Amino acid sequence: MTLRLLLVEDDRELRATLRAALQVEGYEVLTAASLSEGLALLAHAGHAASVMAASIGPTTTGPAMASPARARDQDPAVDAVLLDLGLPDGDGETLLAQLRKQHKLPVLVISARQAEGQKVRLLDAGADDYLVKPFGIAELLARLRVALRHRGTTLRPAITLYRRGEIDIDLAVPRVSRAGLPVHLTPTELRLLAALVRGAGRVLTHRQLLADVWGAEFVDHTHYLRLYMAQLRAKLEADPAEPQLLLTEAGVGYRLVEPEA
Ligand code: CA
Repeated sequence: MTLRLLLVEDDRELRATLRAALQVEGYEVLTAASLSEGLALLAHAGHAASVMAASIGPTTTGPAMASPARARDQDPAVDAVLLDLGLPDGDGETLLAQLRKQHKLPVLVISARQAEGQKVRLLDAGADDYLVKPFGIAELLARLRVALRHRGTTLRPAITLYRRGEIDIDLAVPRVSRAGLPVHLTPTELRLLAALVRGAGRVLTHRQLLADVWGAEFVDHTHYLRLYMAQLRAKLEADPAEPQLLLTEAGVGYRLVEPEA
């Protein structure tokens, strides 16, 4: 099945480059150069539109409305959205907020803005990932695969197996081993590792991890995370000072690298 992406990006050159690269990978790509065009395409693709359109107000551009109807009418969905933030008629964040109210659609933010506070806000608001321009196309494709896989697995049993290099994790038992030898984790370490395994490949914000492992009332206790991440690294990383597995996303959160395919 061909996966269909919506790329919302006002930089014409970047839009063309990304579209070409994504098409080579086998994705079908719809493009929009503005917020209103993106909304119109989502509406056209069958994603509840009236509310979204109303929240933005009258559209100022019309090209999307004039675009030809697509052939796949019986399967009208967009499978993922690549979203720029600085758009001529508004901020991509508006579209993210609307999408999150109504859909589980994966959203990857692509932006030149790299303030940590902004990344955290967007991830907490439900963006699946965030790429700062300029980024490599291989990186984009990898993050896209992860986001699509995670959305796809929300309806299936949770991910419980993780294997990469010397590390073997089976959350169902639970059992963790490194180079074939059992690794003993405390209950809290195991809960934190489980949260990372369920989100493997994705950046998880401090708030998301703290809420998941310790509870909603602990979302500001980032020192818990620092402590327990250090303990996990000491047990799982070959060199805890140079982690290859449990990565820090500075000022944002942590990412467990993707498992081996
Ligand atoms: Ca832009």
